[in-house]
Amino acid sequence: MLDCAIIGGGPAGLTAGLYATRGGLKNVTMFEMGMPGGQITQSSEIENYPGFFEHGKTGMDFMDTWQEQCFHFGLKHEMKKVEQVSKHAEHFTVILEGGESVEAKTVIVCTGTTPKRAGFKGEDEYFGKGVSTCATCDGFFYKDKPVTVLGGGDTALEEAFYLSNICSDVYVVHRRDEFRAAPPTLDRVQRKENIHLITDSVIEEVVGDAMGVTGVKVKNKEGKIIEFDNPGLFVFVGYNVNNSVLKDENGDFICEMNDWGQVIVDLSMNTSVPGLFAAGDIRIKAPMQVVSAAGDGSIAALQVISYIQEQA
Ligand code: FAD
Ligand code: NAP
Repeated sequence: MLDCAIIGGGPAGLTAGLYATRGGLKNVTMFEMGMPGGQITQSSEIENYPGFFEHGKTGMDFMDTWQEQCFHFGLKHEMKKVEQVSKHAEHFTVILEGGESVEAKTVIVCTGTTPKRAGFKGEDEYFGKGVSTCATCDGFFYKDKPVTVLGGGDTALEEAFYLSNICSDVYVVHRRDEFRAAPPTLDRVQRKENIHLITDSVIEEVVGDAMGVTGVKVKNKEGKIIEFDNPGLFVFVGYNVNNSVLKDENGDFICEMNDWGQVIVDLSMNTSVPGLFAAGDIRIKAPMQVVSAAGDGSIAALQVISYIQEQA
């Protein structure tokens, strides 16, 4: 039986593995369906992780040493997708793709979220080269420059407001003339003079060159296309929270979740089920940053060690 099964090998899962093994747990396996590293490996540059300040280093380079460090202390990696987690009496069963299952005393779920793509021309081609889904990560690259934001929900408007304090102008493109975002958020955005709301419009195409995005073509409901020479495009059209491992056979969640499908945890990353922890972008109020995901992973692992000691 594993002391701890960690599901997901991004910054939260890897850090949980480091703290669990270095803290003395002998039998810890991280189930990551791809290469460890998580979604930061898609980033072309990271410059907000304290202590790491090397211009031009990609997210992939950045995560390289994390794996080496974690595996050094005994963390095992199985490149397998987890289908389901369930609790029976005092332990957990982790069902893997293909039907194999593993028993564990504790589980830390670190499966993150996946930002949705909007589907316009050039979105995939320029993702990470001017098209971004993270204002905190990439906003600074467009300091005093104009940017475009796509979406009309809370995330789009809150992130547009954040960007308006860094960028010269923020053009919010939304497909309807009514916003899904909460009225106070919309009100705050409408009062900010460098935010421009472009409603009843869609992004037809993002254009660029070998250096990245150079502009966006926006189409209004009359079919007229206007090109904006904005080098940054932030897409906020919703997230899929990767929470399917926490659903039982009936599709019900095994622990408490909020209305948006994020796992409800306390400050120690405990879920509502004893022995089950969640860390990183999947949890409520996650700042969706590498540094906070790593912090969550360490907290969860320390809590796992205490939990196992208490149960012994
Ligand atoms: P993730 O990194 O999402 O890792 C989750 C892992 O779980 C994935 O590897 C996935 O394959 C795995 N997984 C999911 N489901 C299963 C399953 N069923 N079985 C097995 N494995 C599973 N943050 C910053 O701080 N600074 C930045 O500059 C920055 N730039 C970014 C740029 C881009 C392009 C992107 C996409 C994100 C960026 N972020 C940045 C955000 C940062 O990457 C995330 O906040 C962070 O990776 C979250 O870590 P996590 O471990 O919670 O989840
Ligand atoms: P969301 O509420 O689903 O909004 C997504 C937005 O993107 C909508 O305006 C939608 O348009 C638009 N959109 C979707 N697909 C598109 C496409 N293909 N092309 C163009 N536009 C597209 O997502 P979210 O803003 O990320 O929020 C997710 C959840 O978290 C929500 O419940 C939200 O309230 C919550 N949240 C809360 C807070 C807070 O309380 N402070 C902060 C952030 C998020 P339509 O409106 O036309 O559908």
